[in-house]
Amino acid sequence: MVDRFGRVHTDLRVSITDRCNLRCTYCMPAEGLDWLPRAEVLTDDEVVRLIRIGTQRLGITEVRLTGGEPLLRRGLPQLVARLASLTPSPELSLTTNGIGLSRIASALRDAGLSRVNVSLDTLRAERFAEITRRDRLADVLEGLRAARTAGLTPVKVNAVPVRGVNDDEIADLAAFSVNGGYRMRFIESMPLDAQGAWARDRMVTAQEILDRLGERFDLVPVERQDNAPAEEWRIAGTQTTVGVIASVTRPFCGNCDRVRLTADGQLRNCLFATKESDLRALLRGGADDAALEAAWRASVAGKGPGHAIDSPEFRRPQRPMSAIGG
Ligand code: SAM
Ligand code: SF4
Repeated sequence: MVDRFGRVHTDLRVSITDRCNLRCTYCMPAEGLDWLPRAEVLTDDEVVRLIRIGTQRLGITEVRLTGGEPLLRRGLPQLVARLASLTPSPELSLTTNGIGLSRIASALRDAGLSRVNVSLDTLRAERFAEITRRDRLADVLEGLRAARTAGLTPVKVNAVPVRGVNDDEIADLAAFSVNGGYRMRFIESMPLDAQGAWARDRMVTAQEILDRLGERFDLVPVERQDNAPAEEWRIAGTQTTVGVIASVTRPFCGNCDRVRLTADGQLRNCLFATKESDLRALLRGGADDAALEAAWRASVAGKGPGHAIDSPEFRRPQRPMSAIGG
């Protein structure tokens, strides 16, 4: 799937639920975010069919399951097993907040999941409760260990630093990852919170993240892999890498190879897209594979050059991150 800027799209992010058991302050309001009605959420059969079309007809090679919190989807190992048995079979990964992962990690591995990213913004229990509005740090840490034991590796730890909240823990989180054998990723916060409270001056920039890391570690640049959103460094004296995803200050739109499917079956050609393509309506209206393929190709063909978050013309998408799938 090539767009008009020559970008080839091989990576599909699939949100399998918009629900969540945390309420991270940079993502959701404390209360009052309506979930999608169940009837609007794609069934397993529908998800599997769309991903089969993606892998068989459109060149999708990687599928990341996300949400909301993807572990809240019932029967997740069965869904993963069905996706893993597609021909050709996509590389399957998952982004999760880690709650409940300790119970399900080995079942997911057995079903064919390759890797997980676990979000963790702080190592302090009280602060975790402030950021996520739930007291669940211990569950996340247990989930991380279980993922490593189950072989869902490399296990990546994702953190979103926010000024005055957890930016003093950047080096501590990296040290935690070195000791645990995880790969650390820091993500610049983006204007995708449901409540519209994002403020540029609270975002911690990639440069600031690197400066904080540089105070404690020697960082050796790692050559960037094709289309990888993260810039990576190896922490000298270890095999661990630390990455920074600088979506705002160093956007990587020119190399973007991603397309996204929301839990209610809308195809988005960009995280920041303001238009969607309604694949669910086609699916439920009886469309054949060729028609779904054509709609998908048309969506990618219409992809814009980039998101321009840092420009005055920037417009937020209507859906928040939790409903798009991060
Ligand atoms: N619930 C899962 C989790 O937290 O990993 C998956 C969905 S979550 C939306 C995916 C990733 O997006 C997480 O790593 C989270 O920290 C990140 N995220 C959420 N809101 C964000 C924002 N406003 N800016 C940058 N990253 C954000
Ligand atoms: Fe839930 Fe993930 Fe959003 Fe936190 S970042 S509220 S865990 S969807």
